[in-house]
Amino acid sequence: MSLSEFCPQLFSFRSCRRARPRGNVAGMMMGAGFTVAEVMARGGKACWRCSVCQGQGPVDLVAVAAALGMDATLGNRRPPCRVPGCPGRVRFLDANSTWPLPLDTITDADAAWWTFDDQERARLTALGWRMVMGKWTAPDPVTPPSPATPAPPPSSR
Ligand SMILES: [Zn+2]
Repeated sequence: MSLSEFCPQLFSFRSCRRARPRGNVAGMMMGAGFTVAEVMARGGKACWRCSVCQGQGPVDLVAVAAALGMDATLGNRRPPCRVPGCPGRVRFLDANSTWPLPLDTITDADAAWWTFDDQERARLTALGWRMVMGKWTAPDPVTPPSPATPAPPPSSR
């Protein structure tokens, strides 16, 4: 049995629409607060993105629904990135339109956004990561000591 058969009302976008913060007119915040059911009703695609490794990928919404329920939202969640070696945290977007819509309801207009930003910056910096040209860069590998002997001359033919 598919999820839509199991709970058809969850697949009607209008019936499960909830009150959302105002200010969505420009379309920038269209996805804010979408529930799992809403994202499924819109086409069933969501993705994660990591601002540290720039990774992104699909989200298994069926697994999310099983774990959190259809009324849960992936907005404002920041689980650890699963890319090996990446210390970042991911955010989630509705991926059912040409431009993915952030599911977060918290934006850079909210103090909570900056609190999180500061905490992440401190955490990543403590791990040795640095912000370079707007991107997080992994700690430099240990610089080998300069060689005691000069480099060999270029081989002649
Ligand atoms: Zn990452």
